Amino acid sequence: MRTAIYPGSFDPLTNGHLDVIQRAAKLFDRVVVAVARNESKHPLFTLEERKRMVERAVRRLPNVRADSFEGLLMDYAQRQSAQAVIRGLRAVSDFEFEFQLALMNRKLNERIETIFMMPKDAYTFLSSRIVKEIASLGGDVTAFVPAHVRTALLAKLRQRPA
Ligand code: ADP
Repeated sequence: MRTAIYPGSFDPLTNGHLDVIQRAAKLFDRVVVAVARNESKHPLFTLEERKRMVERAVRRLPNVRADSFEGLLMDYAQRQSAQAVIRGLRAVSDFEFEFQLALMNRKLNERIETIFMMPKDAYTFLSSRIVKEIASLGGDVTAFVPAHVRTALLAKLRQRPA
């Protein structure tokens, strides 16, 4: 049983994340999308909301499930008996940070490999931060996130105007 963990803030999940999830689901028996608490990043959505948005988006992928975690990713991955951690690479700008993170994670647990996946080129410019910014300025995010994420974003921004 080959298990991969796809960790991130997912604040909120975008079509770029979903593209990576679908690619990983073809390679592994089981993919766990692990939503990190990451309070220091002051997420717009609560941990529970972020996890529920992922759950809904992966409903039709039988070998993918959503979970949440806090603390060290490598400890979490070990508890899940995972062989790999998936990270998405959009552009060279992601590389330096991701490279550092991957090597540090290897020091923490050398049995777990980090695997980088590139999304479809149309998604290489997408990030949760940009999606939130567009939505908060009244822009249309229909092409960038699943429909239920768009609805949640609009509701959240109505409660908490930018
Ligand atoms: P984090 O806070 O860990 O960076 P994110 O939710 O922003 O969490 O991203 C999780 C992972 O998904 C990271 O590896 C990030 O590089 C990747 N990612 C984010 N957006 C995209 C995208 N549009 N295409 C491919 N990978 C992406």
